[in-house]
Amino acid sequence: MSDHDQQPTTTDAGIPVASDEYSLSVGPDGPLLLQDHYLIEQMANFNRERIPERQPHAKGGGAFGTFEVTHDVTELTRAAVFQPGTSTEVLARFSTVAGERGSPDTWRDPRGFSLKFFTTEGNWDMVGNNTPVFFIRDPMKFQHFIRSQKRRLDNNLRDHDMQWDFWTLVPESAHQVTWLMGDRGIPRTWRHMNGYSSHTYSWINADGEQVWVKYHFKTDQGIETFTQDEADQMASADTDYHQRDLFEHIDSGEHPSWTLHVQVMPFEDAKTYRINPFDLTKVWPHSEYPLQEVGRLTLNRNVTDYHTEIEQAAFEPNNVVPGTGLSPDKMLLARGFSYADAHRARLGVNYKQIPVNAPRSPVHNYQKDGAMRVQNATDPVYAPNSYGGPAADPSRTDDGGRWHSDGEMVRSAYTLRPDDDDWSQAGTLVRDVMDDDARDRLVQNIVGHLLNGVSEPILVRAFEYWRNVDADLGAKVEAGVRDKQDEKDPKAAQQGNPARSSMQDKA
Ligand code: NDP
Repeated sequence: MSDHDQQPTTTDAGIPVASDEYSLSVGPDGPLLLQDHYLIEQMANFNRERIPERQPHAKGGGAFGTFEVTHDVTELTRAAVFQPGTSTEVLARFSTVAGERGSPDTWRDPRGFSLKFFTTEGNWDMVGNNTPVFFIRDPMKFQHFIRSQKRRLDNNLRDHDMQWDFWTLVPESAHQVTWLMGDRGIPRTWRHMNGYSSHTYSWINADGEQVWVKYHFKTDQGIETFTQDEADQMASADTDYHQRDLFEHIDSGEHPSWTLHVQVMPFEDAKTYRINPFDLTKVWPHSEYPLQEVGRLTLNRNVTDYHTEIEQAAFEPNNVVPGTGLSPDKMLLARGFSYADAHRARLGVNYKQIPVNAPRSPVHNYQKDGAMRVQNATDPVYAPNSYGGPAADPSRTDDGGRWHSDGEMVRSAYTLRPDDDDWSQAGTLVRDVMDDDARDRLVQNIVGHLLNGVSEPILVRAFEYWRNVDADLGAKVEAGVRDKQDEKDPKAAQQGNPARSSMQDKA
């Protein structure tokens, strides 16, 4: 930019300022003057730059892109975003879960995979992860789970003892922990991982017929992962490796893409399927509910202001558009409240008016006022009214999907189906999906993790946990941990490791 093109610096009120270099003082060596509004504005703004980071999913990055429908699914959904030939602008954000804003991108953790589709019928958000399942199935445990993964109160350190204490006391975590300790627990880049809705959602067609669906965004770059060693090295070489990788590839025109598939379950199947199809700790086996292709998501535009376009981006699973809906997954129903509430807490009640969150379709309702409201509301401010205000039209909405429910008010786990148990699908992953090398790496990853500060009673529980997933895996994990402990303390090993013999007695 030549000097001629350069814009004059102004205050936030647009008033030209006298200097970018010197504050106003009484003589060159004298005191500063309170009327130097520009200096004060800068200091005040700087002090307020940070907003509360997300709790969890604080560290992340993202980009804009396009979703194009490639296959006809009109028999299944009437959603405008899925009609043949439709192309929709999308915002994507990827993240780790437990780390803070400055933490390394390559820590072992699930990755958030959040998408906002700016459809002609309002924003549709898919607030997913790079894993098809999750650690828990009831939202009552969520806060406890996240606290166990974050930092202790006393020393402010993350603590594997706390993590394994929680996991081993909550057996429904086994499927997700197995996945996490496996190869996919550390993606090589965000471009090389899949995204899953994990939850079951509903689709509703033009005749009002409903099916259950799970979304799978499969990477077109192929799955690539880091070993623990590679990830550890990268964490020190480049803390922001994943963020940099995405930005640089989009910048250089190498636009990553994902193919959207859905698994579809007929509405009636859900009532009798052998696994509860709404349990977030389970997958629907591909062999029974095969993937059907829908379209392609391509990320092709970097953000230009991280704060306004990513830090203030607000995704929420309750953003379901006509033709799509929720399901009786308890985690999903709770997230419907908690995400919107988190945004109100972080960004304020009018967060949907921040340009990155604002729908591209018109907004008509009776909401008004509140902090940082920037869109004008108009009279009348109540309904019903005689003055032409907006009127709800039930034919335009599926009201988030439908299902039948009846019963006493209870605090209870889901009703058990014949194949509902906490260990089987984790065992399938270990025995049938992983090969020998992947199983070896799984053992090494678990052993390394357990040896990092997990205390004896919890270690013993962890061996049992892995035996329940797979007897051979459990035995290898126990042997791996005890061998390493013996190497560290050969004297105790010679005298017979009491912890090892107590386990052998039990066996
Ligand atoms: P399939 O053999 O049909 O599916 C196995 C799927 O596992 C693959 O398609 C792939 O998912 C995924 N996968 C492959 N390698 C790994 C790995 N190292 N770590 C994690 N996932 C991997 O069998 P099922 O459908 O019967 O599922 C068997 C197990 O596979 C499940 O218990 C679950 O743990 C896992 N899985 C299943 C998924 C599903 O939707 N059915 C999805 C993802 C994992 P992808 O094609 O999505 O890359």
